[in-house]
Amino acid sequence: MISKIILEECIQQVKKLLDKHENIVIVCHVSPDGDAIGSSLGLYHFLEEIGKTVTVIVPDSLPKDLLFLKGVKDILIYARYPEYAQELIDKAELIFCLDFNALSRLDKMEEPIRKACAKKVMVDHHLNPESFCDVTISHPEVSSTCELVFRLICRMGMFEYLTLNSANAIYVGMMTDTGNFTYNSNKPEMYFIVGELIKKGINKDELYAKVCNTNSLDKLRLNGFAINEKLTIFEPHHTAMITLTKDELKKYHYQKGDSEGLVNVPLSIPGIIFSAFFREENNFIKVSLRSKGTFPANKVAEEWFNGGGHMNAAGGEFYGTMDEIIARFVKLLPQYDTYLKSEIN
Ligand code: 5GP
Ligand code: MN
Repeated sequence: MISKIILEECIQQVKKLLDKHENIVIVCHVSPDGDAIGSSLGLYHFLEEIGKTVTVIVPDSLPKDLLFLKGVKDILIYARYPEYAQELIDKAELIFCLDFNALSRLDKMEEPIRKACAKKVMVDHHLNPESFCDVTISHPEVSSTCELVFRLICRMGMFEYLTLNSANAIYVGMMTDTGNFTYNSNKPEMYFIVGELIKKGINKDELYAKVCNTNSLDKLRLNGFAINEKLTIFEPHHTAMITLTKDELKKYHYQKGDSEGLVNVPLSIPGIIFSAFFREENNFIKVSLRSKGTFPANKVAEEWFNGGGHMNAAGGEFYGTMDEIIARFVKLLPQYDTYLKSEIN
């Protein structure tokens, strides 16, 4: 048995909503990652199994590593079909908001979801959830939204309707949000859940190979280039920075997901506590931040890069040039030196 993390009141509320409503939409955050897609498809397959009419709508396209998951073909990409998506949102009686804590994380879907008449349920693990849902299941202490979806299904007494397709998707999110169980992953119950998913028939080694250990030559070369030529260490601040411009990305035929995980690499250097990755997009620079221990990457994202996230994994956006963001980064670093103290030695 696993402990009851989600409040009983929330479980009962979701159960009632499911008893009452047939037309359901599931949404997750822009630039969806393994946990966003995993939780969405995990819940999607379960809801289909219990006979609901369900559509997953995501703001923009998926990383190619996740395209093998069953159900991906049925996902509607809002950026491609906004009118059809709007129709489905209008028809929905119930909307699940997965793996995000603020409507702004929906990008162009923000207003459609804000205005939707449907009842809304949030299942998420980011700090400081906004209160735009009728039921808010928010647990920052849980390492993935996928784990919360698993817990929700079990607590509703519907484990038997959790199919293999659902289990595969849930495992993918648990795996990706913990770096294949290398961080935020020291809780025994996670492994109980993994055991249950294996009993459902997942092949965890195969899922790892598909999601985390499949690279194109361009991707490998881009990452090699970034580490070899674009990595700067700020020794006094125990910090690393990698930058990639649009031209550099173009040279290596960059595809979405090709720099996934790159920001983590410098943290493998002993003494490096904080790592930043700046990737130039069309009209802004995407910021990814990672840290060790109590160094608050999310605080840096919030205070300087219009973003947020978790203590050790955060992100945001910067509207300016690469030179400007580097100048800003160099200037902000000394202000966070106090957080380094507990991590070094
Ligand atoms: P990544 O670096 O993988 O894009 O993002 C890591 C984490 O940072 C995400 O799980 C999310 O919590 C947070 N994050 C990334 N980008 C943004 C952003 O633009 N705004 C906010 N609020 N959080 C972000
Ligand atoms: Mn997540």
